[in-house]
Amino acid sequence: MAKMEFKAESKKLLDMVINSIYSKREVFLRELISNASDAMDKIYYRALTDDKISFDQGNYYIKLVPNKDTRTLKVIDTGIGMTKEELESNLGTIARSGSFTFKNENEIKDGHDIIGQFGVGFYAAFMVADRVTVTTKSIDSDEAYQWQSQGSDGYEITAVQKDEPGTEIVLEIKENTEEDNYDEFLEEYRLRQIVKKYSDFIRYPIKMDVTESKPKEGSEEETEEVITEETINSMVPIWKKNKSELTDEDYENFYQEKHYGFDKPLKHLHINVDGSIRYNAILYIPESAPYNYYTREYEKGLELYSNGVLIMDKCGDLLPDYFSFVKGMVDSEDLSLNISREMLQHDRQLKLIEKNINKKIKKELVSLLRDDREKYERFFKAFGQQLKFGVYSDFGANKEVLQDLLLFHSSKEKKLVTLEEYVSRMPEDQKYIYYAIGDSIDRIEKLPQTEMVADKGYEILYFTEEIDEFAIKMLMNYKEKEFKSVSSGDLGLDEEESEEAKEKEEENKELFQAMKEVLADKVKDVRASKRLKSHPVCLTAEGDISIEMEKVINAMPD
Ligand code: ADP
Ligand code: MG
Repeated sequence: MAKMEFKAESKKLLDMVINSIYSKREVFLRELISNASDAMDKIYYRALTDDKISFDQGNYYIKLVPNKDTRTLKVIDTGIGMTKEELESNLGTIARSGSFTFKNENEIKDGHDIIGQFGVGFYAAFMVADRVTVTTKSIDSDEAYQWQSQGSDGYEITAVQKDEPGTEIVLEIKENTEEDNYDEFLEEYRLRQIVKKYSDFIRYPIKMDVTESKPKEGSEEETEEVITEETINSMVPIWKKNKSELTDEDYENFYQEKHYGFDKPLKHLHINVDGSIRYNAILYIPESAPYNYYTREYEKGLELYSNGVLIMDKCGDLLPDYFSFVKGMVDSEDLSLNISREMLQHDRQLKLIEKNINKKIKKELVSLLRDDREKYERFFKAFGQQLKFGVYSDFGANKEVLQDLLLFHSSKEKKLVTLEEYVSRMPEDQKYIYYAIGDSIDRIEKLPQTEMVADKGYEILYFTEEIDEFAIKMLMNYKEKEFKSVSSGDLGLDEEESEEAKEKEEENKELFQAMKEVLADKVKDVRASKRLKSHPVCLTAEGDISIEMEKVINAMPD
């Protein structure tokens, strides 16, 4: 048969697919496996309405056969196959998706399992192959056909012999060049890796003959190569399993398998949402911060799957910055993907998911704080700073989300307390939430400025991190109680101006004046203080900016 040419616009498009749509070459395998899975799903859907077709899950699989001698990789499926006409229209016209048509023609409403929609994925094969041969037999035809192409110069279709329905694709893998390695696509370990990464949750088994060296029977030194057929994908994703079937260990294993972190997760959330947007997610709150967590290098994000197929490694849009420590994955059937299936067309769905996830994480942290204080404190030691940054960085916009998650050391309890706890035990006459700032709890305890407030029996929150005061300045108040530094000029204590102090002030007028002159460029005023008991002198701040805050601000680069 004469060589058919791709349609003119198809040529350009093919060039685009091969050279610029995909950021990674390895996704060719994801595309071929997705097509194979679709082809088997189609039999399933046909069987629903056609009595002559039966669907027995056990008969359907995908097989990968790499061969280094012939430099070929075969991708075999037992799916619906293609007739000659289908071969021509589906593989002869780029951007024509037989799968998309199939969904429409069969009015499959819940056909969200079928992955194909754009009609370009197949051609990704040419990123790694010089020539592609597709041998296929449709369940609707007694004849089998072969489609062969070397890329943009067109394709040929010939009649061939094939016994069973299904499709077999042979890729003639390119030779290595100086820059590019193609040999890897013939290696068992590499293929397994790619399948694990993108196609682990395809619902049909993906099989491969795996070669292993095993000790030879009856001999201690000699080994022999043993070939066994293995299913290399997990098929059912953990997030589609029933929560009641899963143990903590299953979630921990998934965390480790996915390399979300080297620690043990502190807590996991398994979310199934079936509302206006449908998604499943498994999220983790890690136990400790990664070494680069508080640096620019750290990249937040969750894995994003569309129907069990990995779309993005790290989708940052799914997490607000203040929850950037959360690890895990989201799978949704409602995403509209762009043509490379690596990005989304609209982020509306993403925004909805993000909002929803945000609420769930918040809820989880609140209940952790309530039900397992010890664990929450461990969490807070690792990531509390990030929550405070969160309060600070968006000008208190996330006050509602974050304020109840904060902990500060308390002068009274000698441990971390929440603002809620603080406010709930404030004596009636106490107007402010008091805090004191210092490098460490020990040093704060020795601050002269704390004496007066502590003497009144009021609790003081100890701020030992620079961000602390910045964060509460953004909060402004908690339950209508304003924050006040123990070193502010006016402590807001209902003390009568004592006659004694006034007298002392008068008596020592000259002394104070002299001190003021000596310290002219260091202090604004020198006054008799009511707040001191065991210390002779202390510094106080006028207005809103505390001495500590001033220090931080002065240290900032201009
Ligand atoms: P998409 O999967 O987005 O539809 P592709 O370029 O990957 O686009 O595939 C084009 C079409 O070719 C598919 O829609 C399908 O009809 C057909 N096709 C591809 N691979 C197979 C296969 N293994 N078995 C049956 N049909 C296939
Ligand atoms: Mg496809």
